[in-house]
Amino acid sequence: MGLSKTIWTNPTEYLRVMQPDNPVLFFAPSVLQSTARRFIDGFPGLVTYAVKSNPGEEVIINLAAAGVRGFDVASPFEIDLIGRLCPDAAMHYNNPVRSRSEIAFAVDRGVKSWSVDSASELEKLIEMVPAEGCEISVRFKLPVRGAAYNFGAKFGATVELATILLKRVAEAGFIPSITFHPGTQCTDPEAWGSYIRAAAVISGDAGVRIARLNVGGGFPSHRKSDEAPALEAIFDLIDRTATEAFGAERPALVCEPGRGLCADAFTSSARVKSVRDGNHVFLTDGVYGLYNELAQIGIIDRIEVLDEQGNRRAGAKAPRIVFGPTCDSVDRLPGDVMLAEDIAEGDFVAVQGIGAYSIVLNSRFNGFHELTLATVLSLKL
Ligand SMILES: *Cc1c(COP(=O)(O)O)cnc(C)c1O
Repeated sequence: MGLSKTIWTNPTEYLRVMQPDNPVLFFAPSVLQSTARRFIDGFPGLVTYAVKSNPGEEVIINLAAAGVRGFDVASPFEIDLIGRLCPDAAMHYNNPVRSRSEIAFAVDRGVKSWSVDSASELEKLIEMVPAEGCEISVRFKLPVRGAAYNFGAKFGATVELATILLKRVAEAGFIPSITFHPGTQCTDPEAWGSYIRAAAVISGDAGVRIARLNVGGGFPSHRKSDEAPALEAIFDLIDRTATEAFGAERPALVCEPGRGLCADAFTSSARVKSVRDGNHVFLTDGVYGLYNELAQIGIIDRIEVLDEQGNRRAGAKAPRIVFGPTCDSVDRLPGDVMLAEDIAEGDFVAVQGIGAYSIVLNSRFNGFHELTLATVLSLKL
């Protein structure tokens, strides 16, 4: 990946001057830091960052500068990254399945918080991790609702198993906690409500008072133009439900947003290679590049078409079929994409709110998607 050394005023200035054919990802540190402060000021507990959504060093450094003091890490690479960039930060190793060599690595790097969703993996931790001052959170799942895709398909114990695991955690001398992940891009605050109530039932049935409740990620970013993320409504519901469900035994709360923190600090640009026979739009980026996740969870509709001078195309929005550059027919943005009808070869297509699960999945398949990261003061188009 290339890195533009200059700091640009906004994406349009860069596009006008540089005329990039290859994809560009514009990063506004000011937007990332203000989103981080919105979480820190509004969330009633500790805000940690799920590194997997965007492990860029510029992201980690700006989050730390804004006051983020904890990170959800899932691999030795991520533990190493945080240990190097933020040596004093807490690391929560919340990938519930780990090899023995990964566990040994994390113990050596001072990880003091782990999650688990099965008896076999819990026994591995009990065997290998010193219990003193160390937290193990039991991760549970409920039947899905309201999320963009089903996180429970891979991880999470049933409520019944979670109750047994929580008892075992406490008996083995670890600090007992509970965690869940309601699913990604949850726009309905109620996605958290039923989980928090179920956590209180698990704690009660196990007879174990929990130290912390980690309410996961899943906080939405701005994917639909008429649906700005209602973060404060979610924080408020989490706060109220935790008090109602746990009463005097209310645990400390933790959240671990990925998307909700990083997505809206980035805007992408790809160039129009062709408007084939006036119909299909071919871009220099697609689902093997920054738009990988759009194929899984649907289109972001905050898309603008800019001409070569960086001016917005003013035509009415019309449905188009949009392909990426590779020779693979899967390389298509989902559904019909609404684009200005006067879109032309050489234009730029800018997608806003594209910072999560994009740069980290960018591949060089077929020799495409050579990406430049450009820092901007503002993302205004
Ligand atoms: C991926 C992940 C997150 C972040 O999810 P978002 O939907 O991006 O907020 C948080 N916690 C865990 C355990 C995860 O695996």
